[in-house]
Amino acid sequence: MGCYGAFLARLGLGRPGAWRGALIPCPDGRPARLASGRAAVIGDAAAAADPFLGEGIGQALHSGLLAARAIFDGGLDLYQARMRAGLMREHSHARLLARLIYRAPACFQSLAQRHPGATELAWQVLRGQRAYAGIWAGVARLLLGLSAVPPGQASLDQ
Ligand SMILES: Cc1cc2nc3c(=O)[nH]c(=O)nc-3n(C[C@H](O)[C@H](O)[C@H](O)COP(=O)(O)OP(=O)(O)OC[C@H]3O[C@@H](n4cnc5c(N)ncnc54)[C@H](O)[C@@H]3O)c2cc1C
Repeated sequence: MGCYGAFLARLGLGRPGAWRGALIPCPDGRPARLASGRAAVIGDAAAAADPFLGEGIGQALHSGLLAARAIFDGGLDLYQARMRAGLMREHSHARLLARLIYRAPACFQSLAQRHPGATELAWQVLRGQRAYAGIWAGVARLLLGLSAVPPGQASLDQ
């Protein structure tokens, strides 16, 4: 039955059903066409999910908002341009980070153990305090044996 089954049984919630999963569509780096004439795709349909974290709820809301604003501002071509300049550009950094970390997780685990600031960098992205594009300067500093942020800025290591 396994731990999950035992947990459900303990709570009187029955037996586990069949495992199911679904793909989270993430951008693959190719320039996607997100709008044509009066139609646009947003959220998962636009493969707007974060390629590093797999999160897509915020991105779905964000892309929907951008599409609505573009309609007010003149047309859906603006939506496509703004998505490419914003979310898609940011996701190109997230995709690179995902390639590096998920291909060599042990290497990054060891780095994170030796430099707690590396974990904090990721938390800053999760909290929306740092863009993916801004993560490389912190990584470079850690690899040089420095604190992830220059002195004078809020420490990431605390
Ligand atoms: C297992 C799993 C866990 C996840 N966990 C997280 C998480 O922790 N945090 C996070 O941010 N993201 C998470 N995601 C991703 C997130 O759920 C999606 O990125 C997000 O829901 C996308 O929103 P959306 O509105 O684009 O699409 P959806 O939420 O999929 O909404 C699309 C809707 O359209 C409906 N629909 C489809 N075809 C038709 C049709 N022909 N006619 C009418 N209706 C139709 C569907 O039934 C659905 O209700 C997870 C995804 C999965 C699969």
